[in-house]
Amino acid sequence: MKKRRTNLLTFLILLGLVLGALYGEFGLFQAGVSIDDDHWLKQAGDLVLIRPLKLLIIPLILFSVIAGISNIGDPAKLGLVGSATLLYYFATMLIAVILGTTLVSWIQPGILAPEVQEILRQSSSVMQSASGDAQTLGSSWMNILHQLVPTNVFSDMVNGRPLGIIVFAIAIGLALAAGGEKTKVARDACSGAFEAIMILVQWVIWLTPIGVFFLVAWTVGRIGFNSITGPLGMYMGTVLSGLFIHGLIVLPFVLWLFTRAHPFRFMWQMKRALMTAIGTDSSSATLPVTIDAAENEGNCSKRAANFVLPLGATINMDGTALYEAVAVVFLFQLFGIELDMSQLIIVVITATLAAVGAAGIPSAGLVTMVIVIGAVNSSLTGTSSGPLPVAAIGIIIGVDRILDMFRTAVNVWGDAVGAKIITKLAPDE
Ligand code: ASP
Repeated sequence: MKKRRTNLLTFLILLGLVLGALYGEFGLFQAGVSIDDDHWLKQAGDLVLIRPLKLLIIPLILFSVIAGISNIGDPAKLGLVGSATLLYYFATMLIAVILGTTLVSWIQPGILAPEVQEILRQSSSVMQSASGDAQTLGSSWMNILHQLVPTNVFSDMVNGRPLGIIVFAIAIGLALAAGGEKTKVARDACSGAFEAIMILVQWVIWLTPIGVFFLVAWTVGRIGFNSITGPLGMYMGTVLSGLFIHGLIVLPFVLWLFTRAHPFRFMWQMKRALMTAIGTDSSSATLPVTIDAAENEGNCSKRAANFVLPLGATINMDGTALYEAVAVVFLFQLFGIELDMSQLIIVVITATLAAVGAAGIPSAGLVTMVIVIGAVNSSLTGTSSGPLPVAAIGIIIGVDRILDMFRTAVNVWGDAVGAKIITKLAPDE
């Protein structure tokens, strides 16, 4: 019965994706119709899916991490699980970013015919940069450190800052585990609260097909599939091939290496989460679905999934890291600047850090890319306002949503693979 329901839901989400794409491409949106961000399709998608999922994110993160940590119990084991998880996050992000840098340097999508290059470059002065004020690497790291040492967990909850909540939840989880008999009631209460939220998640998940339909129709309608063949096509092709290689070859291999599990069977088990990621462009909004799919279909242990997935949705972003590297090198190429090895290394390091700093929300990677541009600029000229203006990001804003769909899916897939690997270290007893 349960399996039949899951299959039906999967089918409906897929239907939502396909119908949404078709409606966006051929339906309401015709060439020349200008559509702003408040289009009714986007509003409807927000109301039906994004807002209910967002409602669950903060309590879900809090209780899943507390339940996960307090159940792991033994601090030595926790240390092992924690360090293995962080190692996994950084190693896979680094592989993704190196893959992206290699592909973009090899394919050179920014070396276009001079007239096309000129047209694209001009669009950067016309379009507004997405970034607002340019963040430096130092200030963005200080920002992350401040979040890691929270002063008021309620303010973090109100402002939707997951890192502070995770740190607090880890601390409380440790204390609950250390308390033994005295804290047993609280431990059980937290586990019970987590189960209740997961039941809510299972209800909200039934809204996914409708929400995905609206959101995908909005994205495709605004951008159109023809952009894939336009002058930015090579750039998009480079990002997408990197994402496919990472998602379909690298991560499956890593999974197989550490668990000997069948990678594509696991990918199939995680399909609802992957499709929701494509539909919502947000790994945080997808988190409830990811946890549900990982535990109920992917056979990940609660202990691993409750800890690895919430943390991963916040800091582990393979797709974003890869995308940032490709995008920045592409923009430099467009402005006639070929980066040498030392600058490419700066791209690799800063794109990884910028991806860690990106929130799991739509277009976050586009904003934190400013950090990478600033770092390369300053290595070229000694100041962060070097040869590539930050406003150049305007060139790629138009096609960002489509790329966001796929990089978010790779981000979520990376988290799921991590949860499966860590399940080996921390199985449920
Ligand atoms: N949308 C991505 C995510 O939520 C972040 C990004 O913009 O790359 O995972």
